[in-house]
Amino acid sequence: MILFNKPPYVGKEVDYIKEAIENQKICGDGPFTKKCDKWMEERFGTKKALLTTSGSTALDMAAFLCDLEPGDEVILPSFTFSSTANSFVLAGATLVFVDIRPDTMNIDETKIEAAITDKTKVICPVHYAGVACEMDTIMKIAKKHNLKVVEDAAQGVMSTYKGKALGTIGDFGCFSFHETKNYSAGEGGAILINNPNYIEKAEILREKGTNRAQFFRGQVAKYNWVDFGDSYLQADLNAAYLWAQLEKADEINENRLATWKKYYEALKPLEMKGIIKLPTIPKECIHNAHMFYLKTKDLETRQEYINFMRENEISCVFHYVPLHSAPAGVKFGRFDGKDEYTTSESDRLVRLPMYYNMAMEDMNKVINKTLEFFGM
Ligand SMILES: *Cc1c(COP(=O)(O)O)cnc(C)c1O
Repeated sequence: MILFNKPPYVGKEVDYIKEAIENQKICGDGPFTKKCDKWMEERFGTKKALLTTSGSTALDMAAFLCDLEPGDEVILPSFTFSSTANSFVLAGATLVFVDIRPDTMNIDETKIEAAITDKTKVICPVHYAGVACEMDTIMKIAKKHNLKVVEDAAQGVMSTYKGKALGTIGDFGCFSFHETKNYSAGEGGAILINNPNYIEKAEILREKGTNRAQFFRGQVAKYNWVDFGDSYLQADLNAAYLWAQLEKADEINENRLATWKKYYEALKPLEMKGIIKLPTIPKECIHNAHMFYLKTKDLETRQEYINFMRENEISCVFHYVPLHSAPAGVKFGRFDGKDEYTTSESDRLVRLPMYYNMAMEDMNKVINKTLEFFGM
């Protein structure tokens, strides 16, 4: 069976986990956590990076830092993972879903302004497949209407938009280090705090509402419960696994990009014939090969393709059921404007197996079976 995903493993993970155990520091903010945080700050150019327990909790932190009140509105795409929406629901906001662009499957920046009301407080662009949203336009709209921007860059670690790392453009950026993402801690994530006014608040929020971080820096005499908070610290055991991969981040990135390009070149003839649609990478964007997807002509063809691939022992998957049509989406939000592409394009999308160190033989099998299915 050719699996859809294999967790990244570069070789040093076990040594580093052993080192964490020998350090007698397996909880949060140990040496490996600090290395990962510092690496992200230097590599991506953000004021503060903090590892969290997941991409979902990084989004929770960002939502809480936005200081939302009941009735406040957050603009986001409907074509995304439930986590993007959950965080703003937890923070008390109402969701306003905006349509996507069919080329990148990202929020359509030209439809955002129409969705803004006097209750709107946040725009949350999701960089789908590690390909950036049109951030210049989104930041301009946010500035004009005094809105915060939370980038869901769960899939966008190592991608850039006009040379800027994804996650560093808005007020906050959120990464995921889940095992299905490019770099993994098993379960894990990070929040990037690009607006320095929020660093202290973020540290307090992450450490159960205490000013423990300031205490350890010698800035306060004792530490105290100062605000609302939770525990978002990633265990150093997980950070040790992640560190092995961040050290090899370029190698992992190049390896994935090579797989992506191989798929793209091999399937291009199907697109030229109008049989499928391949992803578009706008010229401002450098992506990270987080995923490889194609779009079939309709839902029925997609299902037949997935079944055919499964019969040939290849696991292909689809996602997402648009959030505005899901029970919780109906309860917590509304779709603004017309659903021109969200439902129709998500119905056509299918993801191919894609992971670090994928064997050439497996790639060839995926390609050949795909060409065979579509009659080439
Ligand atoms: C993976 C993902 C998340 C959640 O990350 P976890 O680490 O699994 O909690 C959020 N948003 C998007 C777009 C994702 O792909």
